[in-house]
This record gives sequence, C-alpha cells and structure tokens, in this order.
Amino acid sequence: MSKCPRCGASRYKVKDDEDYSSDENSKKGPPTKVLWYLPIIPRFKHVFANEDNAKDLTWHANGRNYDGMVCHPADCSWWKKIDGLYSDFRKEARNLRLGLASDGMNPYGSLSTQHSSCPVLLIIYNLPPWLCMK
Ligand SMILES: [Zn+2]
Repeated sequence: MSKCPRCGASRYKVKDDEDYSSDENSKKGPPTKVLWYLPIIPRFKHVFANEDNAKDLTWHANGRNYDGMVCHPADCSWWKKIDGLYSDFRKEARNLRLGLASDGMNPYGSLSTQHSSCPVLLIIYNLPPWLCMK
C-alpha cells in the first residue's frame, strides 16, 4: 500500500510542491517512517557458534557458585519461579533469559522536533555479571 487506508496519507515523503493524493507521486521518494529490524534468531545462532561466548551464555548453569547472596539475576526469585514453572526450560543450560528496555528520544535535541527514535535494547541475563551489562 502506498497510502494509509484510514486517512489517505502517503507512505512516502512528499515534497511540498507535489500533489499529495496522486498515486504516481506517492510511490516516489523515501518512506515517511522506517522501522529497523535486526532478526534475533540468526544473532543468537552466531553468538552460540563461538565456543567462548557459548561458555559465557551457560555460565549461569555451569560456572556459578551460589553463596546465598544475590550476585546475579540467576539468584533472584523470578529466575527460580520460571525454573519452577518450566522444568524443561530449566534443564536446558542453553536457555536464554532476556531483558527488554525501550524509551523514546530525540537524537537531535531541539534542532528537529519532528524526528524521534525509540531504541530497543535487549539484555542477555545469562551472561556472567562482568559481561551482563557490558
Ligand atoms: Zn493514517
């Protein structure tokens, strides 16, 4: 679709001197909004393909010494709750626990109030504490 079915706005950037409603013109130029998407499954495969990274990702199950103190997300109650709910998931040391964070921002400050970005950060909690937030 080159136009919004509800309001008829062009999907593509339209110059001021062009006819807004013309189909010919609406197909030209860059899109009005862009969503950058990085597929996550190939990324996980890539990370597990490296032996050192794979060792770090299973550190929560294989390399951790639990001393009763909360030093890693794996020591927390929500981690153990998920382990209790999904025993098959717990048994697989290569399971991944992710944190998602997002917020909107204007990267150009007050220069362009029209533009905003919403970065989405994915944090792998399986990693050892010295790598988890790096
Ligand atoms: Zn619309």
